[in-house]
Amino acid sequence: MDGVWDLVVVGGGPAGAAAALRARQLRPHARVLLLDRQAFPRDKACGDGIAAHGLDELDLLGVGGLLADYRPVRRLTVVSPGGRCVHATVARPNLVVPRRVFDARLVEAARARGVEVRRHRVRALADTGGRVVLDGPAGPDGVTGVTGGRGDGIVARAVVAADGANSTVRRLIGVPATADRHTALAVRGYTDVPAGDDTQLIVMRREGWPAYAWSFPVGDGSANVGFGMLLPRLRAAGAPVRRVLHDGLADLLPGLPARDLRAHRLPLSCGRPVPGAGRVLLAGDAASLVNPLTGEGIYYALLSGRLAAEAALQAPGDPLPAYRRALRRVLGRHLRTTDALAVAARFPGFIDAAISTAARRREVFDVLVEVGLGSGTVPAPLLCAVAGRWLAGVLPGR
Ligand SMILES: Cc1cc2nc3c(=O)[nH]c(=O)nc-3n(C[C@H](O)[C@H](O)[C@H](O)COP(=O)(O)OP(=O)(O)OC[C@H]3O[C@@H](n4cnc5c(N)ncnc54)[C@H](O)[C@@H]3O)c2cc1C
Repeated sequence: MDGVWDLVVVGGGPAGAAAALRARQLRPHARVLLLDRQAFPRDKACGDGIAAHGLDELDLLGVGGLLADYRPVRRLTVVSPGGRCVHATVARPNLVVPRRVFDARLVEAARARGVEVRRHRVRALADTGGRVVLDGPAGPDGVTGVTGGRGDGIVARAVVAADGANSTVRRLIGVPATADRHTALAVRGYTDVPAGDDTQLIVMRREGWPAYAWSFPVGDGSANVGFGMLLPRLRAAGAPVRRVLHDGLADLLPGLPARDLRAHRLPLSCGRPVPGAGRVLLAGDAASLVNPLTGEGIYYALLSGRLAAEAALQAPGDPLPAYRRALRRVLGRHLRTTDALAVAARFPGFIDAAISTAARRREVFDVLVEVGLGSGTVPAPLLCAVAGRWLAGVLPGR
């Protein structure tokens, strides 16, 4: 028998590992169990870009040196759908670390901190009010229930569900999946680049907009390259989804043949749900916390995993209100900003105006990076400047 765990975390990606690390950091004797259906190291379809804010989260979690052997990437080039271009040095460098490495290191750090890590695929859940039971025996009506004796399943005071974009736990607690209109699909691969390449490149395309490709150099002579689109646009393209993605990548990054292609969904934050129910909290992609402008999700995953663990330990009987308050405090204004910008960004001309403004004004470039990769907001005068530039381009007679 396991007894009762103080916290069970489902999923060992950045959100789950952050939750587990935070729980033991706050309460070194807490009984924390981390479950993942896969053994680590494992691959995960991702651009591998870790924003500076994500690195701050690693510091907070007490694992700041985890990626010290990776080279900071300081240059960023963005080409807008209409061909406007900005090329600048970011205020704070990012890292590009293959997820096979990053996630395994995080899980290992959690294990070293006393978290029990198990390979286990969660399929069933019952919230009894007082406890959460994962994969307990089926009750008389076939519904998973709680009974005495051995084989009771995994019993927890609280659960952090960090099981990714197709979250099983989210479904089990009755939270609907993110609507297709708020979901993107992206493919990533690896290619060879000069070892000295230290520019993250993002190239957008008007066809099928919003659609963009990226090349993120790792620093070892390889780069992560990929291409993504919104799901409804992909389906409307009139060809098999896989072919549209692969052709988009080849079209926008010609001459960079990609290997190890792998695709996955991105549930965008403009379709975010209530992040949990009862004693179960959703974090990271399971909570649809992916930036709708850039597809960045690692920072949000680390942050939300940390906040979920804090709420789960501090108020295990009713953690959801505390978790929602914490998310609102840290990300509320930012998420409302990205919600609004995601609507404006449906018009490629708005992005053209934003990129050409950023090319001329350094402070605008910095704001865009903060909004796209961190938790930044847009000052009203700046929004007016971009909107004015955009309207000047589209209104007749101007
Ligand atoms: C192609 C692509 C490119 C991207 N590029 C970037 C980028 O460059 N930078 C960035 O910041 N973000 C990027 N993202 C988003 C980023 O990958 C996610 O936001 C991030 O992985 C979310 O972390 P997570 O911990 O919530 O989920 P995940 O990393 O998906 O981890 C979920 C874990 O849960 C496990 N699991 C699932 N179901 C179960 C179950 N039933 N029981 C037990 N375990 C389970 C899985 O095995 C997995 O290990 C990209 C996404 C895609 C698809």
